[in-house]
Amino acid sequence: MNIHVNPQTSSRILGRAAAGHRLSRDEIIALYGLPADEVAQAAHEARLRQTDPETATYSIGGNIDYTNVCTVACRFCAFYRARHQEGAYTLSFDEIARQMDEIVRVGGSDVLMQGGVNPDLAFSWYLDLMRMLKRDYPQVHVDALSPEEILGLEKLTGRAAYDLLAELKDAGLDGMPGAASEILVDEVRRNAAPTRIMTGDWFRIVDAAQSLHLQIAWVGMVTGFGETLGQRVEHLLALREQQERALQRYGSGFAAYKVWPARLEHTRLKNMASQQSGDEIAAEYVRNVAISRLALDNFVNHRAVWRTMGFAVATTALRSGANDLCGTGSINAINATIVAAGKHLPDPNQALLIEVRRCIEDAGFVPALRDPYYNVLARDERKTEAMAARNDGN
Ligand code: SF4
Repeated sequence: MNIHVNPQTSSRILGRAAAGHRLSRDEIIALYGLPADEVAQAAHEARLRQTDPETATYSIGGNIDYTNVCTVACRFCAFYRARHQEGAYTLSFDEIARQMDEIVRVGGSDVLMQGGVNPDLAFSWYLDLMRMLKRDYPQVHVDALSPEEILGLEKLTGRAAYDLLAELKDAGLDGMPGAASEILVDEVRRNAAPTRIMTGDWFRIVDAAQSLHLQIAWVGMVTGFGETLGQRVEHLLALREQQERALQRYGSGFAAYKVWPARLEHTRLKNMASQQSGDEIAAEYVRNVAISRLALDNFVNHRAVWRTMGFAVATTALRSGANDLCGTGSINAINATIVAAGKHLPDPNQALLIEVRRCIEDAGFVPALRDPYYNVLARDERKTEAMAARNDGN
């Protein structure tokens, strides 16, 4: 879609956006037609006004993918396996405990636990899991079970999401990821993943969680499913509206937003895989980060993703509206990242933390370790002076 915006309108939209005014649908669409550097600069100004201008945050945590058995079988998913397919697995509680031990060992404050929709796991299995985690790892914040998994449990038990989530919360669940959002427009979902949870159910389950004061750790947009720019904006507006509703009614909304491009090369949607060059994908990603900051004025925290985009692009994202760098993530991903970088360090977790902090410093901010609620636990004071001097020179 070619979008033409006259210079006067362009500067009015960017000025309003940088100042934190709420943008209309048409104004957000116009952002896709404006020079990328100007959109990024407006998003950066908005970020500096909404969050601590000196620091960018990161966290230490881990991901545990407890099962890859899934009956939803999304066409874009390379992770899932059918029940009896080679490679299908479900972690035992002992295996989960071993991974939790490692998260605690590296100083992790949170765990993200997600898996497939596995009908062999009874609801009581999840309750027992939450109780075990709360009993043995009380210091670790547990984000678990996406709206898709909760929908699966609704179908399995015949019970409503609100009741299931209330029981899970009593057992130890602290929050949930806003995963399975991709593009929250049914037309896009039916085309790319017709068996996937639809928009109405996704918002219904998220609203139930928020009404129970379960923090939704993050929600995002995954681009590249054949969606139009108008449908991306529809997604943003629906999330902005839900954030407004949740904050007003429950005082508890989405903690953060992130965007990343779909990787479809090794999936049944490989024909839909992007033909763009790496630089084009990176440029589009950064523009989406910036537009998200400007469109979602009621989301304080916007995350840059290094695992999908690499640290150099994540640094640019931190200068284009993002204020948080996605954390250390899964132990497997940590190892893969370090090996891919050709490094052989005794402790890959420490090596990754060095990379995370460097990425933040390269963007001109002081790295600040945060907890799952975005409270700063520690900032690298040694960097403060150097960063301030550097920013003055910009
Ligand atoms: S529900 Fe999740 S695990 Fe299952 S196929 Fe879809 S994306 Fe993969």
